[in-house]
Amino acid sequence: MRATRLPQFPATDRIIGDMNRLAFALLLAAGCARPAPPSYMQDAPRTEEDVRKILKEVEEELGKDFIVERQGEVFFFASNAGETSYDRCRRTVARMWDFLYADYLTTKPTKPIRIYLFKDKATYEAYCKKAYSKPPTTPYGFYMSCERKMVMNIATGTGTLAHELVHPLLAEDFPDVPSWFNEGFASLYEQSRQSLDGKMEGLVNWRLPSLQRALQRGEKISLRALTKTTTSEFYGDGSGLHYAIARYLCLYLQEKGKLTDFYKRFRKGFAEDKTGAAAIEAATGKKLDDLEAEWRKWVGTLKYED
Ligand SMILES: [Zn+2]
Repeated sequence: MRATRLPQFPATDRIIGDMNRLAFALLLAAGCARPAPPSYMQDAPRTEEDVRKILKEVEEELGKDFIVERQGEVFFFASNAGETSYDRCRRTVARMWDFLYADYLTTKPTKPIRIYLFKDKATYEAYCKKAYSKPPTTPYGFYMSCERKMVMNIATGTGTLAHELVHPLLAEDFPDVPSWFNEGFASLYEQSRQSLDGKMEGLVNWRLPSLQRALQRGEKISLRALTKTTTSEFYGDGSGLHYAIARYLCLYLQEKGKLTDFYKRFRKGFAEDKTGAAAIEAATGKKLDDLEAEWRKWVGTLKYED
């Protein structure tokens, strides 16, 4: 039953999905080409001394304008956006964590994950230029998997934080997760709200109109083809549309109450079902072609108001 809802998170985003493939590759290459973080950044902090080293490293990197704190076992937050913003972000992460580990994920990370929150475009861009010798290719934020670090302009809202947080946690639980589900599931939460029972619900967002236009124009869209995309295909030509198809497939499964069951089947049966198509069929009890026909109609009924 639908009860009164808590306020939804602010609109945000347009993140990596809108970056072109080359920019994406360059950004990741730039991050991975940096000297490897010290071992205490890469291993599970075991002692208070390990924790102190990480906090000191972050403080030295960012300077005294930042609140630098450990939260929970693995998160190391740094924020120059003030107490109120920091608190909101901390709560976003806690909410997402509780929800994901209640409904989806099992394996938890043990290694440090850094969350760098910049109060505005100027300090976000300045950091990216200093750290990666180039401006960011997204105005919102990104997750650098090789450094286990999220970097974001939090003035754009907490939706990007919810999206980016999914990546390291999902990677821990489902290391071989295909890009289509990695991004479809993460982007589901970039516009989301929490129900009174604590569950996070993805909502319609800005990715809808381009999907609806593509469907109306009769562009070649196929759920089966999406599930077969390799990482380079997903992030390559037409990546914006790939994100939208993946997100709205996840939203559809969520609305039908099948997303959790699908995820568990997909992760468990991945060795036999690399695309997830069989898991979709098993979770919904429908053949993918039949489901696609229903999904197309359903997408046509959705409305997005900017
Ligand atoms: Zn993402």
